[in-house]
Amino acid sequence: MFKGTNIHPFEKKLYLSSPTMHGGELEYIKEAYDTNWMSTVGENINETERLISGFVGRKYSVALTSGTSSLHLAVKLAGITKGTKVFCSDLTFIASTNPVIYEGAEPIFIDSEYKSWNMDPEALEKAFEKYPEVKHVVTVNLFGTPCDYERIREICDRHNAVIIEDAAESLGTVYNGRRAGTFGDISAVSFNGNKIITGTSGGMLLTDDESVAKKARKWSTQSRDCAQWYQHSELGYNYRMSNIVAGVIRGQIPYIGEHIAQKKKIYQRYKEGFKDLPVQMNPIPENSSPNYWLSCMTVNPGAMCEQRLGDTEYTYTKESGKTCPMEILEAIKTINAEGRPLWKPMHLQPLFKKYDYITVNNDNGRDLFMRGLCLPSDNKMTEEQQNAVIKAVRACFE
Ligand SMILES: *Cc1c(COP(=O)(O)O)cnc(C)c1O
Repeated sequence: MFKGTNIHPFEKKLYLSSPTMHGGELEYIKEAYDTNWMSTVGENINETERLISGFVGRKYSVALTSGTSSLHLAVKLAGITKGTKVFCSDLTFIASTNPVIYEGAEPIFIDSEYKSWNMDPEALEKAFEKYPEVKHVVTVNLFGTPCDYERIREICDRHNAVIIEDAAESLGTVYNGRRAGTFGDISAVSFNGNKIITGTSGGMLLTDDESVAKKARKWSTQSRDCAQWYQHSELGYNYRMSNIVAGVIRGQIPYIGEHIAQKKKIYQRYKEGFKDLPVQMNPIPENSSPNYWLSCMTVNPGAMCEQRLGDTEYTYTKESGKTCPMEILEAIKTINAEGRPLWKPMHLQPLFKKYDYITVNNDNGRDLFMRGLCLPSDNKMTEEQQNAVIKAVRACFE
C-alpha cells in the first residue's frame, strides 16, 4: 500500500477526463424539443455532420450511435467478413478490435513503437511477410497521438491494404498538416463522455468515398431498400445518432480548440513537474500536434520497483527511490483523483489469446503497460489541483 502523503484530498473527485458543457448544447436540445425533432432525423444531425466533415477535412460523414458502431460499419464496408485476417493495433481499447470479431474475422495484433506508442511500421512490415494475403489494417491514434502514417500508408499501399483508422481519441489531432480522421480509407471518431468533446455518446464514420457514406447511412437505419413498403435485401442496424445527442455535439464543436489548449497546458505542467524524475511523458512524434486527450507517463526501467500484475490482482514491493504505476495510481487515489493504467494490450487479453501477435522487439506494448499510467487529465482541473497530483506522484519516488 502507498504510505500516504500530507496532501489534503480534493472535496470533489477529480476525474481522468469528464464532460465539459458550455451552454450552447442546451439551446440545440431545446430547439429539437420545441419542434418535436426528437428522433434520429433533424437539423442537429445534419449540422453536426457538416461541421465535423469541415473540421476534419473529409467529404462525407455519417453520424452514428457510438465510436464502436462507426468502427463496426467501417469494418463491414471495408469488406471484412468471416475468416478475413486483419492486422490490428495491439495497444488499444478493446473497442478497436471488437468490430473485427463481430464479423467473425481474425485479428492479428501488431506491436507498438516507442516513438508514438502506436502501430510499429516495422512490425507491420514483418506481419505482411508472414501474411502477404492480408488486405485490412486497423490503426489507432492512442491518447490523441497520431501513428507514423507516412510509413504505415506507404506499407499498406505497397500491399494493396486499406486502412481503417480508429480516431476515437484523436479528434483535433494534426499530423503532417492533416487532421486525424483523414488517414484511414474509412475513419471513425467517438463522442463518448470522456473524449475531447462529447454528445453523452455518439460517433461518426468519415470517408471521401460517396458510395461508402451512402451504404453506411443505409445500413445504420436497418437497410431499407427504395420502396413504398419495408423492403430489405441487406442486413441492417439501428446505429443512427439521435438528434438530441447531435445537439450536444453541435454545441460542443466550437470548443474543440479550447479543450485541446487546456489539455496541452495540463500535459506541459506535468512535464515540467516531473522533469527531474526518472519518468517519461507520452511521446509527441515529429510533425504532429496532438489533441493531448490524456496525459500519460512511464516510469523508467531503472526506477521500477517490483510489480506483479495478475489477471485481476496486483502486488508490488516498495523500494526506496523506486516506484511503479500501481503505487502511483494508489497515491493519486488517496487525494480523491482518478488515474488509470495504460490500455492493456489486446494480445494479453484472455478473450484474444488464440490470435497471433507480431513484434520485432520484445513486446513493447507489454513493457509500456507495465511501466505506464494515465494521469488525471480533466480540462477543468485547476493548477492547484494539478500541483497536488504532481506532489502525490513525486512522493512515490521517495
Ligand atoms: C472510446 C474509444 C472507442 C469507442 O468509442 P465509443 O463511442 O465509446 O463506442 C474506440 N476506440 C478507442 C481507442 C476509444 O478510446
